[in-house]
Amino acid sequence: MTLPASQAPDWLDAGRIRSTLARNAVEDTRRVAEVLTKAREMKGLDLDDVAVLAALTRPDLIEEMYAAAKQVKEAIYGRRMVFFAPLYISNRCSNECLYCAFRASNKALVRHTLSQQEIARETEILIDQGHKRVLMVAGESYAGAGGFSYVLDSIATIYSVQKGAGAIRRVNANLAPLTVEEFRALHGAGIGTYQLFQETYDREVYAATHPKGRKADFDWRVTAFDRAMTAGIDDVGMGLLFGLADWRFEILALLSHIAHLEERFGVGCHTISVPRMEPASGSDMATCPPQPVSDEDFKKLVAILRLAVPYTGLIMSTRENAAMRRETYALGVSQISAGSRTNPGGYADEQRFESGQFQLGDHRSLEEVVQDIAEMGYIPSFCTACYRVGRTGGDFMDLAKTGEIKEKCGPNAVGTFLEYLLDYGNPATLAAGEKAIAAEIAAMDPKDGRVAQRLADMVRAGKRDVFC
Ligand code: SAM
Ligand code: SF4
Repeated sequence: MTLPASQAPDWLDAGRIRSTLARNAVEDTRRVAEVLTKAREMKGLDLDDVAVLAALTRPDLIEEMYAAAKQVKEAIYGRRMVFFAPLYISNRCSNECLYCAFRASNKALVRHTLSQQEIARETEILIDQGHKRVLMVAGESYAGAGGFSYVLDSIATIYSVQKGAGAIRRVNANLAPLTVEEFRALHGAGIGTYQLFQETYDREVYAATHPKGRKADFDWRVTAFDRAMTAGIDDVGMGLLFGLADWRFEILALLSHIAHLEERFGVGCHTISVPRMEPASGSDMATCPPQPVSDEDFKKLVAILRLAVPYTGLIMSTRENAAMRRETYALGVSQISAGSRTNPGGYADEQRFESGQFQLGDHRSLEEVVQDIAEMGYIPSFCTACYRVGRTGGDFMDLAKTGEIKEKCGPNAVGTFLEYLLDYGNPATLAAGEKAIAAEIAAMDPKDGRVAQRLADMVRAGKRDVFC
């Protein structure tokens, strides 16, 4: 098949981003106060505002920014934290991303493309752990597995598995950019969010770190969401690989990308992921990233994104260790993975670590993470309601912006958490969870509390998959 030529986007103006950063590089207490006041109003920030926050170095101002991020996060998301698990279906790849263990030239990596039976087995294991949301992930090479239809078959397989009372209710996918026709087929397969990380918006860094394969074409990648949205996919997930280029430049470029989608399609992105480069087998770059992001800067960028796009979900993967993940929950993270494996077949076969994509920072099981965050006062959520009732894209954002989404998310988090506890929790998790649920219902607005109580009663009575 001949792929269409990719066109440079007009919305990515590196010169403008750099001059915005330069203009705001000196810390200005009055401007910082202005920007934080605006951020607390939860209407988002423009590029100059973001550049002001990105320049912060004074510890007291940084703490003030963290406090604002916490306030915004709690106002919009309450205490819920949505869980998902990645499901790697193949580590075959024809690209040459210098930081990734899956790159074609890494001959030492054991390659594996899961059969549909193996995918079903992985899915059963995730269901048995209590998961309801899966992020399907693959390297960019489906040729040996029957072409693109392999991806569609894999989604169908994941949705088809029933184990006890459990099933995966939402399949998101992180896949290489597709054509409009392929995106249409992906949409038709019932995908939730289409996720794609630009890696970097710096063209020169991109060219140097993606030397070969289809992924070497920066414009093909940076225009992927335009094609996805043209094909009807209205929940897209963005991300960057932090460590490749200046993080300040990257977040301003990401916000320009969101503004472009909002302007063209009426909706920006559903989620943002913030992966930092981790060591990966056979990659010198991954052990020594070109522009490493320090822990302090990483926390800053999470808080800035929370304030800049308050209604967009923020995803924290198990690349980060438990301590860093805990710190970022309060700064704005709304979705986390747990118990993850980045090697195809890694849930069924614990020994297959050698075929993983990168090193993980948090090795705890789903159960351990659930217990930990419940003890921190959060409500683990396994909710998939919005996607299943068609509250996606602009419909979701409209509800989010008026604050009404909280009336859905809070009770649904309680219902799905209780379902998890009763079906999969051990006695310690059940005890911590029951305490967290009682506290959550008591703290809710009375109307939402009554809805949450009704859902909880239904779950206790044996009903499953209830939501509002
Ligand atoms: N192959 C597709 C692609 O590159 O878009 C989709 C899946 S790829 C397996 C998912 C993401 O993993 C990449 O977009 C990249 O950001 C991330 N990744 C690759 N190597 C990494 C590393 N060493 N540390 C952290 N994340 C990494
Ligand atoms: Fe392949 Fe994706 Fe890894 Fe690049 S990041 S080598 S495209 S799997």
